[in-house]
Amino acid sequence: MSFNIAIDGPAGAGKSTIARQLAQRLGFIYVDTGAMYRAMACHLLREKIDPGDREKIEEACRHADITISYENGSQQVLLNGENVTERLREETVGNMASLVSSYPVVREKLTQLQKKLARSADVVMDGRDIGTAVLPHAQVKIYLTASTAVRAGRRYEELKAKGIEKDLKDIEKDIEERDYRDMNREISPLCQAEDAVLLDTSDMDIKTVLESAVRICREKSKAL
Ligand code: C5P
Repeated sequence: MSFNIAIDGPAGAGKSTIARQLAQRLGFIYVDTGAMYRAMACHLLREKIDPGDREKIEEACRHADITISYENGSQQVLLNGENVTERLREETVGNMASLVSSYPVVREKLTQLQKKLARSADVVMDGRDIGTAVLPHAQVKIYLTASTAVRAGRRYEELKAKGIEKDLKDIEKDIEERDYRDMNREISPLCQAEDAVLLDTSDMDIKTVLESAVRICREKSKAL
């Protein structure tokens, strides 16, 4: 049986950084499920589909073949055979992903792919609903969070490093809106699974968070 580690939490909590490093440390595969929602968003943006148009989304979803492959251990996302990984981090794609992730047809399609990946390998999978809906039987569950101000500050620095200037207040507003949508949608809203360990990273650096995550995993399994 494969070993599954689920990491959930709101935008900007540091999930992908921690999940990637944790997977590397344990020799597991890192599965970034947000990238799958972003690939679907990419498809809908290309098709110029309104995020409020349920019928068109259902139709377009049927024609979106999303698959995952790995290059030197790094996850690549293929949309209808084309590698779209580089486009996925754009703000427009993230916002569209957040809007369309509430549609059952989108969640159903991507959840199946995620479950299949977790059955076939030892994975660290991060997202919003991994511990609650995708892998309810995961051996380890971590809920990673941080205050809105800290998460906005991290995003601001990340954008600045890429040469993008954006007002901190606007970033904070975007994060609050995305949190609200993710936590209040009807299907699989973001919430901490009952058996997840809470890690508030507001006052922690990456190294400390990683060490805490490794310790949590080793407490659950001596084999790790
Ligand atoms: O984590 P990331 O910012 O890449 O996710 C983009 C969007 O995809 C999130 O705002 C969320 O709405 C959606 N998502 C989701 N369930 C997941 C992963 C991401 O609904 N497991």
